[in-house]
Amino acid sequence: MTKLIFEKHGKGKNKFRVPDFGVKDNDVIPDKFKNSSVDLPDVNEVDVVRHYTNLSSLNFGVDRAMYPLGSCTMKHNPRINEKISSLMQFSALHPMCGDTLSQGALQVIHELSVYLSAITGMSAFSLAPAAGSHGELTGVMIIKKYFEEIGEKRDKIIIPDSAHGTNPASVAMCGFKILEAPSNQEGDVDLDKLSGMIDGSVAAMMLTSPNTLGLFDRNILKISEMLHANGSVFYADGANLNAVIGTARMKDMGFDIMHINLHKTFSTPHGGGGPGSGPVGVVEKFVKYLPVPFVREEGGKYALDYNRPDSIGRVHSFYGNFLVALKSYAYIRTLGPEGIRDISRISVLNANYLRSRLMKEFNLPINRTCMHEFVLNDKDIPNHVTTNDLAKRLLDYGYHAPTVYFPLLIPGAMMIEPTETEGKDSLDEFVDAMIKIKKEASDNPEIILGAPHTTPVRRVDAVAAARNPILKWQE
Ligand SMILES: *Cc1c(COP(=O)(O)O)cnc(C)c1O
Repeated sequence: MTKLIFEKHGKGKNKFRVPDFGVKDNDVIPDKFKNSSVDLPDVNEVDVVRHYTNLSSLNFGVDRAMYPLGSCTMKHNPRINEKISSLMQFSALHPMCGDTLSQGALQVIHELSVYLSAITGMSAFSLAPAAGSHGELTGVMIIKKYFEEIGEKRDKIIIPDSAHGTNPASVAMCGFKILEAPSNQEGDVDLDKLSGMIDGSVAAMMLTSPNTLGLFDRNILKISEMLHANGSVFYADGANLNAVIGTARMKDMGFDIMHINLHKTFSTPHGGGGPGSGPVGVVEKFVKYLPVPFVREEGGKYALDYNRPDSIGRVHSFYGNFLVALKSYAYIRTLGPEGIRDISRISVLNANYLRSRLMKEFNLPINRTCMHEFVLNDKDIPNHVTTNDLAKRLLDYGYHAPTVYFPLLIPGAMMIEPTETEGKDSLDEFVDAMIKIKKEASDNPEIILGAPHTTPVRRVDAVAAARNPILKWQE
């Protein structure tokens, strides 16, 4: 087990000395504010370097191997985008500089919103929300404001049973009731059940497209017609944009409001809580409700517009996570329209290649051509080896596990998303690892049940970890 830096402490180990510059002691900090017992670890330089270098190698990341975590789009992020977002001219720009001194940054925000509009067909985007879930919240606030303004009392929002957990959370936070729309055997929304739910109390339906089973709902236009005929708003959770980007537009599917996860589709490393960015886009009739400030362009000059009387107001201090937007801007400019289309073509091809190889060995509950991800389960694994066991054993083979036990409507789900940045060799190696594990399940199940064997921390007691977390060092 790796030692903590505090355990490497030894008084006097750090041999660094500040040279005597002959400067008179001019310490202005009053004694009463000085604390001699801050307990900083005393360690020598090489130990510090080794300690943190070793720690960094304990973590798993997409730089080490494939990270097929369905729904999360853990893809390689080109380093050039990091470099651009760390340019001093952007990273050191103070948000209080004012519009005149921030023209470059405002131009990036404006142009990125124009690109996102072109990609999705929406009329305008706000880049203020800081995450996908924050984009959802902003979108639902717009829906609420819209119905208040037209004077209709509607208090329900429909969400399919395959939805990401943040969808019902955002809807509930805005005070709406949730109606759950069931999926049919083939993974689409059950149209008969849906039509029985739609009435004058339904403000909107929130649908992930393609859905979290990795399937494109074949009735999308019918659903959109049903909602619009009822005066309801159609909201797209666009976190799965990788599957359709450059190929199909949300506006053409009938959606009115949507969010995008820049940190999934548009090249920002994520995990561990951020930073992210969840721009929200709307069709013309909802543009006036977008949050303030709104970046406006007039004759090549850019300004933050606060004077928008119908706006839902602010959703973030200053203007969103600008440096994340900048990475996405650089990414779009580097790829161009053809490159953008390749994202969806290759991510869908990669997922279908994995699906068609793995379905020979594992159970595929919904057997359809998939989009950028697909869901297997543990039904065909011998000796009662479960999805959880297989996920732990994959760590020994050097992979991050897929998303497990989600979506909830597939028991023992393993949701696999390879992304477009994996080559055929790495897809084949992943399939080989999965097949080896299945063979182990029949020949030597103990090795799987005791996995992982090679990670710094072995199998954790997940229940105890959730109920009694120990988050700081205790002597
Ligand atoms: C990731 C994801 C979200 C939430 O996005 P965050 O940025 O994590 O808040 C919502 N819906 C779907 C389908 C997602 O995959």
